[in-house]
Amino acid sequence: MNPKTTKKSPKKKAAKKEVVIDGLGVSSGIAIGTVHVRESGSVAVPEYKVPASKTADELKRFETALTTARRQVGRLKNKANKLPSAAAEEMGLLLEAYTQMLGNSRLVRGAIRRISEERINAEAAIQDEINDITQGFAQLDDSYIAARLDDIREVANRIINVLTMTHVRPISTVPKGSILISEEVTPADAAQLDPKRIVGFAAVLGGAQGHTAIMARALGLPAVLGVAGLKETARSGDTIIVDGEVGRVVLNPTPTTLATFEARQFEYRSRQSKFTRLKRQPAVTRDGVEISLFANVELPIEMPQVMMAGAAGIGLLRSEFMFMNRNDLPGEEEQFRMLRDLIKTLRGRTLTVRTLDIGGEKLAQSLTGDVGESAQSALGLRGIRLSLARPDLLETQFAAILRASALGPIRILLPMVSTTREVKQAREILKKVAKSLKRKKIAQSENLPPLGVMIEVPSAALTADALVGVCDFFAIGSNDLTQYTLAIDRTDEQVAKLYNPLHPSVLRLIEMSISAALRGRIPISICGEIAGDPRFTALLLGLGVRELSMSAHAILAVKQRVREIDLSAASERAGGIMAQSDSGRIAMLLDDFNALV
Ligand code: PEP
Ligand code: MG
Repeated sequence: MNPKTTKKSPKKKAAKKEVVIDGLGVSSGIAIGTVHVRESGSVAVPEYKVPASKTADELKRFETALTTARRQVGRLKNKANKLPSAAAEEMGLLLEAYTQMLGNSRLVRGAIRRISEERINAEAAIQDEINDITQGFAQLDDSYIAARLDDIREVANRIINVLTMTHVRPISTVPKGSILISEEVTPADAAQLDPKRIVGFAAVLGGAQGHTAIMARALGLPAVLGVAGLKETARSGDTIIVDGEVGRVVLNPTPTTLATFEARQFEYRSRQSKFTRLKRQPAVTRDGVEISLFANVELPIEMPQVMMAGAAGIGLLRSEFMFMNRNDLPGEEEQFRMLRDLIKTLRGRTLTVRTLDIGGEKLAQSLTGDVGESAQSALGLRGIRLSLARPDLLETQFAAILRASALGPIRILLPMVSTTREVKQAREILKKVAKSLKRKKIAQSENLPPLGVMIEVPSAALTADALVGVCDFFAIGSNDLTQYTLAIDRTDEQVAKLYNPLHPSVLRLIEMSISAALRGRIPISICGEIAGDPRFTALLLGLGVRELSMSAHAILAVKQRVREIDLSAASERAGGIMAQSDSGRIAMLLDDFNALV
């Protein structure tokens, strides 16, 4: 039953064929590195070396985990016995197989050998063993074997879960130059990627507009998602190229392919360094109109990039990072300290803090337990809805923001707003918290920070004229606005091709929101991904936007585009585009304009 591994056979290694698989390029740049396969889903696998002196302890830890897992399966068996007889029998067979796998199985023996010989931790040992087993059978197109492999994976995951249960599970300390390969890289996983060690990643699942993709762009990591067949083909240790521009993964490249990609990587990097020269130049159109280019921030580690790009401030702080990868909620003091550090770094530039937007694909263990499946639905209890349902969350966040407002300019942005009532309720809570701080003589800014609304749900765009009356600024979230208008899940690779912010319906909603803001004289920015794509710059400026917020890495490319644009020509072209009802024609008119100037 032992599948042959390629590790010990140099001959087989040399014979490895180049494999090219296409996917969705979600974060540009070219990464060349070594495959590090990681199992994903609910199981996060820490990986580290165990010193020889601690190997015995690690083996003991593994044994204890096996005992716990066996006990868990035993409890399941008791439960299964109470099922109707056919189901009990079926379940009994499966659980018996699980018990055997938790005994003297190939999985367990292999893991023990790896702990002892390779001196790695138990989780990593199980992980590597399951990778080997899966790989050995990957070529067999047999549904029975596929199902058995799923069973083995299930058992392996159970052991890993037991091993990791009590602590937050960081992504492995992988060797430098690794490229992460996984079934799925969740936003929470992406938040743990260390760009000093991981130079890129690719996954089977995921779309270009999901938060994993956004996170990749934010970290400047080349990434390709939606790569079918990747897990079956890639093995830890293989050489791999991830081309985030074209959306391609090349495994075991030939020397010629490698040389071609190295040349392209060099070209890409020199293009990037040209942009850096733009840093000191103002973002002004050819006809002299200044455009403010802000940064979207997912994680504080992006701040050096934000400052290096010369951002006008933070136009969108996605505060979810404070809540992810932990089992408890961050308190007021902890949140305050994080905001204080950001404000200090910004040295007088505005910080726009979006209140918690947990929900959909962005999950936090501390909250999803409470709200269950609803939080996982794009249409569920998420964004401002969750915050209003749990006012304690909002109160804590507001208190931290208000305290930070004493230290520098700060604005508050509410996500997923769909009615004026939500804004009014949030403002009442904000006032109440401000009063309470005042009573306690805790410092805050003299006036309440501006309270803004994300326009990212069609109902908000359609009633933008009413929202203008209850808030202080708008930020258009074109990612969700596109998702909800077109009914396209932004994370689903199956429908990724249909996701199109140039659809006339989306553009009309954007135009309506801009007009309402301009009429109501409140500031409006765009902070969805189109703000960071130079292809859209002329159209957005032409529609009247003067503030864009994007991933820091995109700022200089957009600045270059701003400096090429004549605003009156852009407005005229935007007018022509808005008269169209066909997205193909819209794209053509936009691309033609971009080709001219
Ligand atoms: C958006 O929806 O466009 C947006 C900026 O919010 P997020 O991507 O964080 O959902
Ligand atoms: Mg959004």
